[in-house]
Formats: sequence, structure tokens, C-alpha cells
Amino acid sequence: GTENAAFLDRLLNVSMGDVVREFFADEAVRGSFMQVQDVGNPEAPGGAFCYSHIRCDTFSRPEDVGIVRGGMGMIASALADSARAHGATIRTNTVVTKILIQNGSAVGVVLEDGTEITASQIVSGADPKRTLLGLVGPEQLPSGTTKPAQAMKTRAGYLKFHAALSRLPDFSHYFPTDYDPRYIASMKICPSIQYYQAAWNDAAAGRPAARPVMEVQIPSVIDDTLTEPGRHVMSVWGLYAPVHPCDGDWDALREPVGERLIDVLSEYAPDLRECLVDWSLFTPADLERRVGLTDGNIRHLDIVPDQFLDQRPMAGWSGYATPIDGLFLCGAGTHPGGEVTGACGHNAAHVILKTL
Ligand SMILES: Cc1cc2nc3c(=O)[nH]c(=O)nc-3n(C[C@H](O)[C@H](O)[C@H](O)COP(=O)(O)OP(=O)(O)OC[C@H]3O[C@@H](n4cnc5c(N)ncnc54)[C@H](O)[C@@H]3O)c2cc1C
Repeated sequence: GTENAAFLDRLLNVSMGDVVREFFADEAVRGSFMQVQDVGNPEAPGGAFCYSHIRCDTFSRPEDVGIVRGGMGMIASALADSARAHGATIRTNTVVTKILIQNGSAVGVVLEDGTEITASQIVSGADPKRTLLGLVGPEQLPSGTTKPAQAMKTRAGYLKFHAALSRLPDFSHYFPTDYDPRYIASMKICPSIQYYQAAWNDAAAGRPAARPVMEVQIPSVIDDTLTEPGRHVMSVWGLYAPVHPCDGDWDALREPVGERLIDVLSEYAPDLRECLVDWSLFTPADLERRVGLTDGNIRHLDIVPDQFLDQRPMAGWSGYATPIDGLFLCGAGTHPGGEVTGACGHNAAHVILKTL
């Protein structure tokens, strides 16, 4: 009944296409503001709501948002140091193959080498599909849960391109000739809403985007710990990639898709290929293999309207504690969803503390 309720109503139903057209007249500006992440289709209702979650950093204090000095791994290292200082033992490179269930309660885990570890609380940060369908297993799930768990959506796919550069590529066509190199710490390539739509349409049809939307970062212009003086590192977040390509597999597609991404980016920085020392491309299949993410889904489950708020990971399972006594979920597949916010783990920790 408040002014905020009307705003929420609109946010729930409006597409990002509608939002950017309402606020901006210029197509290039509209393109630069266009982003719906896992929703994919820029004209889909609810896209603005899902994207508003991902841009929640807009409401954070400026000093709490930024590019991490030393790279993203430093966040995990800092968390690990803090946990160890509080008495935690951390085993890396240790794969859990099974969550032990006895009489409907989680009582421990089995590791890849067969070691069994028992505990009164089991907390899984692996994605919900992997946890429920893989580690717990359909035979141990409460009745009526297997089908909804199988139906959880992991359809949005992305490309992550990493490159070592001998020097900074020349983006001067878009900036004054003596531009401050810090301008190119973070750039977006999406010249129009139609460009975004075409990138999504390609992936929805099973093809890697011919002209991907790109979020380009060159963090070494502001962080001199990342490489040698004068050299640079670049990463590109490419939208979109099919989880299961219709034509060939990702091992065959990785090289040509990476080359095409370089070609498109070279239209903006013509000397890019001269600067490239080496590059690698991570496809959805690589992310699945390397990180253990089902379908390479970077937020564990798509953040789409029907997998949001109390529907995340699925109806009836949104409280971090699960219907299996002693089993908790704490990862990106829980509310409020993926991104490096710590919010899912924070909420889960408070639920678990109440049970101790
Ligand atoms: C390439 C990429 C780029 C991203 N870019 C951004 C970005 O720019 N900004 C942003 O905010 N977010 C970004 N994200 C999303 C963000 O990283 C995730 O949402 C976040 O890391 C989720 O944290 P988490 O702890 O819930 O899960 P994860 O970080 O996915 O951790 C889950 C862990 O569980 C482990 N695991 C899985 N199965 C098992 C098993 N059987 N046994 C033992 N361990 C297991 C995995 O190996 C993994 O280490 C990106 C993600 C990726 C992959």
C-alpha cells in the first residue's frame, strides 16, 4: 500500500528493455545500461527485478565495493585465514562424494578416498542440484522432491576470457588521446538493446554468441601486484554461451569461439592482437569440470523470477535448513543468490547458530 509497494510491483513485471527505453533516448546509452544476466532475454518481464539483485552493490558503501587487490582469490584466502584463526580445519582439493543419511537425518560425509567424517551438522556450499541429486541422491530425498530438484534451472551460460598483455591495447578511438589508463579498468561492450538480444538469441538457439556482450576488465591499470611493470592482464566476461552447444562440444568450440571474441574486441582496440602474449577461454563445460558447478552455472542456479526469494532453490527449501534433519544449504543456490556478497553464507550461518 506504500509508494515502495507500487515500485516493487513494477519491478517484478517490467523488462530491462522497458526500463532503459523509459530513461534513455540514445540507443548506445541504452545498450550500455542493458544487462539482465541469467534472464537472458532483455524484453522478458521480471528481468529488471533479477538484475536489481545483482546490482545491489549500488546501495553499498563505496568503500565496500570494488576490484580486489591481488585478484578475487584474495577474498577466499582472507575468509580461510579468519576461519583458521577461529579453529577451523580446511581441506582443499578434497571432494565429497556422498552425504550420509541415516533415518532421514544427515550424519556425515564420505570423501573421494573413502574416508568417512561424521558430524551433527552438514552444511553444503556446493550447488543445490549437485548436493541434492548427487551427494544426497534421489533415493534419500523426501518424497515428491526429486522432480522439482531435477527441474531447477541452470540454463544461463557465459564465457570467461583471460589474457596476458605485453602492453595496454589502444582504446583511444573511444577516449581522448591522452586518456587516463584507469578509464579502461572496466569497460562494457554492448552498443544497443538489439545487440544484447542477438547475443541471447544465439545462445538460446544453442550457438555461442557471434558478437558477445562483453564486460572487459584490465585490473592491472589500478593494481600493480598482478603482473610485471608495463605488462597487463585482462579478463572478459562474455554473454552468452549455450550450456550444451547444438553443434559440436565445447572442447572443439573453445579455440574458434575465443578467436572470434578477440576479433570482435579488436574492432574496439585495433592493436589488441599485437598486445596478446597468451589467452585462455573458460566455457560452461570448463567451469563445470574445474569448479564443480552443475552446467557451469556461476550462480549455482539461474537467478530468474521463478528461482528467486522464497522460490530459491525451490519452493519449501528457502530457509537454509532443509527437510533433511542436520543438512543445511549455504551457497549461491540459496536466497539471495550468487555474486560475491557473502549474503547466502551469512544468512545460513545465523540459521545454523540457532540450532546449536
Ligand atoms: C567465471 C566466473 C565469474 C564470476 N564473476 C563474478 C563477478 O564479477 N562478480 C560477482 O559478484 N560474482 C561473480 N561470479 C559469481 C560468484 O563467483 C559466485 O556467485 C560465488 O562464488 C558463489 O559463492 P559460493 O561460495 O556460494 O559458491 P562457489 O564459489 O561456487 O563455491 C562452491 C565450492 O564448492 C565446491 N564443491 C562443489 N562440489 C563439491 C564436492 N562434491 N566436494 C567438495 N567441494 C565441492 C566447489 O569446488 C566450489 O569451490 C562469477 C563466477 C564465475 C564462475
